[in-house]
Amino acid sequence: MTETIEFQAEARQLLQLMIHSIYSDKDVFLRELISNASDALDKLRMESYRDKDLGVDTSDLHVELRTDSAARTITIADNGIGMSRDDVVTLIGTIAKSGTAETLAKLREAQASGSEEVTAELIGQFGIGFYSSFMVADRVEMTTRRAGTDGGVHWESAGEGTYELSEVADAPQGTSITVHLKAEDAEDNLHDYADPAVVKRIVKRYSDFITWPILLNPTADGAVVEGAEEEDSEQEASNEPINSRKALWARPRSEVSDEEYAEFYRHVSHDWQEPLETMRFTGEGTFEYQALLFLPAHAPMDLYYRDAKRGVQLYVKRVFVMEDCEALVPEYLRFVKGVVDAQDLSLNVSREILQQDRQIQLIRKRLVKRVLQTITALRGEDAEKYDTFWRECGRALKEGLLSDQDNTQAILEASSFASTHDPEKLTTLADYVARMPEGQESIYYVTGESRAAVENSPHIEAFRAKGYEVLLLTDQVDEVWVGMVPSYGAGDDAKPFASIAQGDVDLADDAEKPEGFDDLLSWMTTTLADDVSEVRLSTRLTTSPACLVGEVGGLPPQLEQMMRSMGQ
Ligand code: ADP
Ligand code: MG
Repeated sequence: MTETIEFQAEARQLLQLMIHSIYSDKDVFLRELISNASDALDKLRMESYRDKDLGVDTSDLHVELRTDSAARTITIADNGIGMSRDDVVTLIGTIAKSGTAETLAKLREAQASGSEEVTAELIGQFGIGFYSSFMVADRVEMTTRRAGTDGGVHWESAGEGTYELSEVADAPQGTSITVHLKAEDAEDNLHDYADPAVVKRIVKRYSDFITWPILLNPTADGAVVEGAEEEDSEQEASNEPINSRKALWARPRSEVSDEEYAEFYRHVSHDWQEPLETMRFTGEGTFEYQALLFLPAHAPMDLYYRDAKRGVQLYVKRVFVMEDCEALVPEYLRFVKGVVDAQDLSLNVSREILQQDRQIQLIRKRLVKRVLQTITALRGEDAEKYDTFWRECGRALKEGLLSDQDNTQAILEASSFASTHDPEKLTTLADYVARMPEGQESIYYVTGESRAAVENSPHIEAFRAKGYEVLLLTDQVDEVWVGMVPSYGAGDDAKPFASIAQGDVDLADDAEKPEGFDDLLSWMTTTLADDVSEVRLSTRLTTSPACLVGEVGGLPPQLEQMMRSMGQ
């Protein structure tokens, strides 16, 4: 029985945008499908470690590419984890990612304004791997069977709103995707994906590092047929993989090109863009590991959602063990993507055990230090890159000020802040302190919803008049960390943070304080007793007659407002 099912609305929209966007580099569809196949093989091996009763042969896991120039198809098959019927409906038929609706709205806007660059960039943020096949296909077929289960599913679609699903009794385990190539691309020799030579070139370029063997047109008896015109005797002799399968992080640094790093980054991050920064480091001695990490050039779509994933994969001696390894990265560094390959761990280690593992804790410490150092260094080396990073991921980084006491100062060092010093540029705390005039003891800040709102705050007037700089903190997270982090700097040089809206900020010498207001003040305090705890003279204002201040140790005004609006 064949069912016709509609793609979820968001999925349909994205698919349409994908098909009709003139994304210049269509070759990437193959990279995406191979990347999925590789993920599926990783998952199967992981599951076979965890579930000894799975009863699946994992001795010959690989990806197979089959071209058929007469039928004008290319098939990408893996014997990995596969999908159940429900998997297919949810994983292929819908987009369940947080932030989808917002990004789609931006996409429509970009399309309407004709900005192709922005469109391509936004599409890239979805990491819409599978749908990219519709850039080159009239029709896509998929047969899949979940490892350890019996029945398989056949899926088919022209990408136009609906897909067809039917049951298949004898599907091989894993997933096989057949792409029916558009007729119009047949003439284009460089992009004829039914041509083995073209396929080989693309795999070399985009998927060489994939650790699983990728076979091109293998035959049952072990000979590879690469199409009659191909004269590659070495290849014809056996089913040799066409990828070198070398782990990037295990190769000498000087031998890995930026482009190879970029492709690997795309594979682990599911991002379509290049990484902003690449980090490689190793641990030696009793506990060996290698790390290859990346900073993204844009915030992952789900960065500020509750279910955001952490992006570091754990390998043990080149073997994939786990994705999104929480034990390796704190939540506030969830934008970091990449791989840690440890030498001395068991392959079937569980997430729970990892959290307790001393070696993993050491790697995590090192990783955090290294990432924070890299961000701080980036500001000096390439201000533009740093600004991009900060704009995209800075808010997430500042969450570390709430949770990572050991690295508070390093996080402050890596951070930047808007301030009254410069209307355009952000400042570092070090620069702020360097500019502090004689007599200023604290780092002053004001929090609020927007720069415009806080800049007009009456509290700021006297600080301006006195030549004191004020940090303008407008992210939600700022409200919280300023209450937790007492100071910046170490030892005698530590400078306390002080809100200009709280407590008695004394900006004048006693001599300047006018006298004879005591009666007025006590009368006002009594009259306003229901609303304020005290009315006092202030030297903090210059042009406004009065302002409200919070008590030292009291709630910050925005938080107070929030509590009130929640009825507390
Ligand atoms: P992503 O890889 O970023 O998750 P894709 O669109 O490439 O997005 O794939 C969507 C999902 O479909 C994958 O996360 C995976 O669960 C499933 N999937 C795709 N291809 C395969 C495959 N070959 N084997 C098993 N599952 C697959
Ligand atoms: Mg994918």
